[in-house]
Amino acid sequence: MPSKTPRNRKSASAFLPKVKTLPALQKAAGDCQGCDLYRRATQTVFGEGSPRAALLFVGEQPGDMEDRAGHPFVGPAGNLLHKALNEAKIPRQEVYVTNAVKHFKWEPLGKKRKHKRPSPSEVAACQPWLVAEISAVSPVIVVCLGVIAAESVLGRAVRLIDEGGKFHQSEFGPLAFVTIHPSLVLRQPEKKDREAQYARLLHDFKEIRKKLLTLRIEGARKPATTD
Ligand code: SF4
Repeated sequence: MPSKTPRNRKSASAFLPKVKTLPALQKAAGDCQGCDLYRRATQTVFGEGSPRAALLFVGEQPGDMEDRAGHPFVGPAGNLLHKALNEAKIPRQEVYVTNAVKHFKWEPLGKKRKHKRPSPSEVAACQPWLVAEISAVSPVIVVCLGVIAAESVLGRAVRLIDEGGKFHQSEFGPLAFVTIHPSLVLRQPEKKDREAQYARLLHDFKEIRKKLLTLRIEGARKPATTD
């Protein structure tokens, strides 16, 4: 996670409020022009969920439906995320969801708006919002859904094949876990591949729940004070 932004690089830093509560951050993010993505998107899509969530899930960027609705994870990938959370028995009050990039990046495809992957500079520009959200929520585990999220959280290049399904120490705070984005499940043309990727996502969510329970038990056993 870079600590300083070079002067000539675009960044959301200048748009962050002094008091970094979630409501203040959300309001300020609505006016962000930290990179060019605000120009073609409908609105900023900020994170939502329990303000004291133990698990903070980070996706890539809002999709077409999220851009129109102004809420994260309300499209098909969001439905799949919530299905997997339910099946892994992770309650909603444990969860906050957000994205590495807060504006929808797209290109025209006929009459549709086709998702376009954000560039590294756009991810870096938007990173101050993510850092501020993580700091405000103070989760136990940050769950990175896909490579873009993982690279923003871990502050380095990530290969899902090597680092997916594992816990990592993030540079700026809580434990991080890297898994696939639910949209990867939906993109599989074959039913058997969709089922296999969904099983992978569900397995990872169960591992995350297990780890959270273990950390809580270990935390409860820790002495209240140490000299
Ligand atoms: S994508 Fe992020 S940095 Fe760029 S304008 Fe939107 S909120 Fe600001």
